[in-house]
Amino acid sequence: MAFRGKNAVVTGGAGGIGLQVSRQLLAAGASKLAIIDLQDNLEEFVKLRAAHPTQSVMTVKMDVANKKGIEATYEEIIRTFGSIDIVVNIAGIFNDKEVQRTLLVNLGGIINSSLSALQCMSKENGGNGGIVVNMSSVVGLDPMFIIPVYGATKAGIINFTRCLGNDSFYKRSGIRFVTVCPGATMTDMFTNFTEKIIFPETSDETYKILDRLNKQSAADVSRCILNVLEKEKNGAVYVIEGKRVFPIEMKTYWTGKEQA
Ligand code: NAD
Ligand code: MG
Repeated sequence: MAFRGKNAVVTGGAGGIGLQVSRQLLAAGASKLAIIDLQDNLEEFVKLRAAHPTQSVMTVKMDVANKKGIEATYEEIIRTFGSIDIVVNIAGIFNDKEVQRTLLVNLGGIINSSLSALQCMSKENGGNGGIVVNMSSVVGLDPMFIIPVYGATKAGIINFTRCLGNDSFYKRSGIRFVTVCPGATMTDMFTNFTEKIIFPETSDETYKILDRLNKQSAADVSRCILNVLEKEKNGAVYVIEGKRVFPIEMKTYWTGKEQA
């Protein structure tokens, strides 16, 4: 996929990995970009627009957990842009003490935005098709015992996205669905980390584990995400670690064959 002339949506694009993806999509020539985020980052939004005066940058302050709000946001984007080709769902939080909120934002947010994207981009509804990349994590693949609530949402994202990444959906909609699972990345997500875990008795151990982890930059992760967008492989799941991106094989344990 070439990015030139394409219209993109990034959730969580006001900070961290999402801001880097927004920057890099514009630098790669995306024509119109919509950033959906709960927060304003006016300083960065001004910079984005100044760096790309001939491209459109639309920013919408919206909570991805708000299903109706996200539907309305997509309708607004379609009214403004005409069409959407790329969606990168990045918005997410870490706070295992806030179980409901974590489920609604991380898993609910990905579901809300993916379903709205499907509605707007599907060839069945007059859209062009395209690609949706959903943000999971390596801890959605390999359990990390200190963060079970966050990990559960990230595991759920992989399953949800693999379902929508089935080729029978693709044949109808023309939309590919892909999951990315980055390892530890230096962003605000690690701020006051040990205050946001549910088992305080693991906080010393958590501290040690975090300290030892190999950490990559948000810009490196973002470059890998653009790489994944270019690969356009429906249903694929990628690990992003140390500037590298590689697909992983998801094993099948259950075939569900009918009885003879
Ligand atoms: P970050 O906190 O820097 O950025 C998250 C962005 O999402 C922020 O701009 C925030 O305002 C926005 N956001 C949060 N809740 C929202 C909501 N309800 N609605 C709309 N926007 C919302 O964190 P980050 O590290 O850049 O994380 C981005 C994504 O990457 C998250 O989904 C995270 O789980 C995932 N991830 C992060 C790491 C890591 O180590 N940092 C590793 C793997 C995956
Ligand atoms: Mg981010």
